[in-house]
Parts: sequence; C-alpha cells; structure tokens
Amino acid sequence: MKLPAVSDVDRELVVNETFGPTFQGEGPSTGRYAHFVRLFGCHLSCIWCDSPQTHDATRCDLADEQRVLSIEDILSWLAAGPADLLVVTGGEPLLQPHVVGRLLGAIRERALATDIEIETSGTIAPTDMITSAVTRFNVSPKLSHSGLRRHQRIRPAVLRDLADSGKAVWKFVVQALDDLDEIQELVDTYGLHPVWVMPEGTDSSTVLARMRMLADPVLARRWNLSTRLHTLLWENDRGR
Ligand code: SF4
Repeated sequence: MKLPAVSDVDRELVVNETFGPTFQGEGPSTGRYAHFVRLFGCHLSCIWCDSPQTHDATRCDLADEQRVLSIEDILSWLAAGPADLLVVTGGEPLLQPHVVGRLLGAIRERALATDIEIETSGTIAPTDMITSAVTRFNVSPKLSHSGLRRHQRIRPAVLRDLADSGKAVWKFVVQALDDLDEIQELVDTYGLHPVWVMPEGTDSSTVLARMRMLADPVLARRWNLSTRLHTLLWENDRGR
C-alpha cells in the first residue's frame, strides 16, 4: 500500500532538548527509568513556568534553544538505548500534532519504548493517531495562580475529549491550600479522575515544604500526591 505524501512539516520536529536516561520525576510513573523529548513552543505563559526556554523570549535566547530534528533522528537516538518509558513534554507537545503522531506511530512499530507519556496543558485536543499510540496523557490544567485567564487555561471540550480517551490523569500544580478548592471545582465540573496534586517549586526545600503542607489535605480528598523527584535529586539542573 502506498503511503500518502508527507511534507517536511510532518517529518520534522522543533525540539528544545532530548535527554535520558533519567527518572520520570512527576505523576504516576515517578521513579521510572525514562527518556525525554522536550518539544519547543508553548502558546501559554504561566508565571512560574519551569521550562521557559521552550517559548519565553523575555527570559531566554530562543534561537539557542530550538533545533529541528527529523523523526529518523529521534528514532536513531532511541534505538541506541531503547526506552522503557518515553516522555514527550514541552512546552506544549500538542502544538505539533501531525509529526508527533507519526513519531509515536514509528516508535510503536519498531518497539522502541514500552510506554509513552505525553505531558500537556489540556488546552489542545490530541489527534486520534496520538491517542492510540500513547500509554497515558499527563494532563496539567492550569489554576488561577498561573496568571492565565480562565478561557486561556480551561478548554471544556478539550478536557472532555481527554477524559473520554480513558488515558488521562490530571496533574495539578499547587502553591497553596486554597488551590485545592479550585481543583475540586474542575474535578466536579468535568469529571476528572484520577487526580494528582504536585507542589510548584524548582528547589528541593520548596518542593518538600509544600508536599508536607499538602499531604493530609490531599489524603482527605482521596487524591494522589506527586513529588518532583528530579528537583529533590538535582535541584533545577537542565536535562535531568
Ligand atoms: S503550559 Fe507548561 S510550558 Fe507552557 S507556559 Fe505553562 S508551564 Fe510553561
């Protein structure tokens, strides 16, 4: 069967960095041996963003932070040391839906990763190809402390789409206990389950202090608590 013609746009990814092996630092797979592809670009601008190099020209020299890699480049990198878990993160990976779908399909075909996770803000719906290839979406809807307006950060149709995929977990970045009420409203409105609460912070003392603050209130709501393992281990080092 002849495949449809593919443009360069469908063969090339705009990437910030690839790294690994390391550990998945957040969410349900915390501690797993993992490789990361961090894609360039984000349409949002969270005040506390921990990866500004993917999109924020006021904090980073973006010309130095982006490179174009082909699908074959990424496949060769993975083939050199096959991944147990591949995490596709950003930025916002779903800004490059067609090439990401093709990449994930090729990784599945060649069995280059046991599991694939996509980390997304939950504001762009995934394509069917992406949904069928991933093991899980780690969806992180932003709360008001992100500095974004509600219509920018909460897209009801996208949240429902991701929830209907049966592959989404909902990971909320939290700074203060009041944030838990905001999460509860979203959970009740959109039927989000399961919930993971993760402290905001890019140094180990902030992460640990916020985890201790959150532990009992999160248990009381029957939710899950995530650490930021990479921050506890390596502080704010890039590529870990
Ligand atoms: S959605 Fe993620 S990458 Fe984009 S600005 Fe917010 S935290 Fe940063």
